[in-house]
Amino acid sequence: MKIGVLLDEPTIIPGFDYVFYETKPSSGRNLKPLPKAWNVVNCFADNTVSQSRPELVATSSGERAVRGTVRHFLWDWICPSREEYREYCKKTIQDITKHDVAGIRLDSVCFPREGYCDCSVCAEKQKTSGEDPIEWRAQQIESFIKEVHESVPCKLGLTIEPDPCYGKERFGLDLEKLAEYVDFLSTPLYMDYSIVYWLDILANCFRRRISKPYFIELYAGHPRAPTKHLVSALAVASAYADCVVLSTYEAGIARSLQIEMVNSKEIWKFFSDRHCVEMLDILRRWQDQISEGTSRGNQS
Ligand SMILES: [Zn+2]
Repeated sequence: MKIGVLLDEPTIIPGFDYVFYETKPSSGRNLKPLPKAWNVVNCFADNTVSQSRPELVATSSGERAVRGTVRHFLWDWICPSREEYREYCKKTIQDITKHDVAGIRLDSVCFPREGYCDCSVCAEKQKTSGEDPIEWRAQQIESFIKEVHESVPCKLGLTIEPDPCYGKERFGLDLEKLAEYVDFLSTPLYMDYSIVYWLDILANCFRRRISKPYFIELYAGHPRAPTKHLVSALAVASAYADCVVLSTYEAGIARSLQIEMVNSKEIWKFFSDRHCVEMLDILRRWQDQISEGTSRGNQS
């Protein structure tokens, strides 16, 4: 199993097989790409374009998919069927690939929820296609990912909404089809890890449905939850995932977690009692790297 980290700081942290960096966060700002990292692009989440081009925002029965509405969107959503925005997104992605990146991870590539989008462009396109609305929506998302896949030379990952049952009906995400165009699929399974029962159920469901390498993202940022809860989550996720990604967002948290986990006898014992050999391997790797760093520090 591999271990990864998700950051919103442009830093490579040793000890992680995958460093994900948010180059285009949902704020819509295009930040400088980070070479050697997996650069994360939020596709249809864009709080900047939603302000400058409000007519591109996804709608449902007169309601716009923006922050502050009763549907509690965390960011503003652009309609996935608008050609000019799709081109803008693809251009952004192509520009990032010129920076010697390890790969690109596509986030927020879906419709905001069921009922979206019923803007005049979607309504017209769907009517002309003669397709069933659910199929038509899924095709909008599939064609976008296919176009990105065909236009970039680097590896691609895809984050999907953590709904293993109705992703297609709600978000336009047809798992089996989308898997063809990417090197891995990832789900953020962010929750309170004091009880890992639901994490186990969701991870199990996705593992059964995903034929490609499967990445699980665990929330490890502010506000910091007790590390023992995160460790329980790691024990569960490592049973299903090809890579577990710690979403710390801050590099400092990721580094302190590495040290805290390596130095805790209880954590080694916890993984050992549960036969989490993959996690023990990762702890050993971190331990070697930390002691190398210390001896190098002593020599200088
Ligand atoms: Zn639309």
